[in-house]
Amino acid sequence: MVARAARAADLADLDGAVSDCFACPRLVAWREEVARVKRAAFRDQDYWGRPVPGLGPQDARIAILGLAPAAHGGNRTGRIFTGDRSGDVLFAALHRAGLANQPTSVAADDGLTLRDTRIFAAVRCAPPDNKPTPAERDTCAPWLHREVELIRPTLRVVVALGAFAWAAWWPVLRQVYGQRPPTPRPVFGHGAHWSGESVPALLGCYHVSQQNTFTGRLTPAMLDDVFTRAKDLAGVG
Ligand code: SF4
Repeated sequence: MVARAARAADLADLDGAVSDCFACPRLVAWREEVARVKRAAFRDQDYWGRPVPGLGPQDARIAILGLAPAAHGGNRTGRIFTGDRSGDVLFAALHRAGLANQPTSVAADDGLTLRDTRIFAAVRCAPPDNKPTPAERDTCAPWLHREVELIRPTLRVVVALGAFAWAAWWPVLRQVYGQRPPTPRPVFGHGAHWSGESVPALLGCYHVSQQNTFTGRLTPAMLDDVFTRAKDLAGVG
């Protein structure tokens, strides 16, 4: 799997290859069971039930790094943050920021396109309770590292959605940019900002989970502030 990720020639090749990954037995079993049992509201739909690739153009200047696909969102529709409430909040914000052509993301063929932005997750398969193990995170890391490598020429800013994504970024510095991560590691927080030499800036943002958006811990205005800053740092007009 590591070798296959490393030799992906471009994003299309990477997206195809990751969709065929079976490296984590627990996650493979879970994603397939969810796809078989389904949620009642989606009983008549065919679930994707496989790893979920990234979304967005190869010349992205901004990356949004999430945790993992949702069981009945990305794992159902086959597109990251698509078909669940987290995606509703995220894509509405991206649309307000001019980074998405529409404010909703409901299905893989709904016409959504992104501008200057690539979205991907630290772990590509839906995990039970949204909690991948450290071993699963490490097993999946080569996909993330290759994806960043492929967009490295234009990438200027990474928005980490939540502490898990924030922590998953540091190994990228070493693997992709050949740089030693800072010690101690900067602490995650909403609005946290870290920048180094010749590497993308890192912005922290609370995850767009229902737990955060329903309780008002993360508001649309807070998301707007993050994407305004990301665009400024990335030089996106
Ligand atoms: S989580 Fe990543 S490494 Fe594990 S099976 Fe899914 S795509 Fe493969």
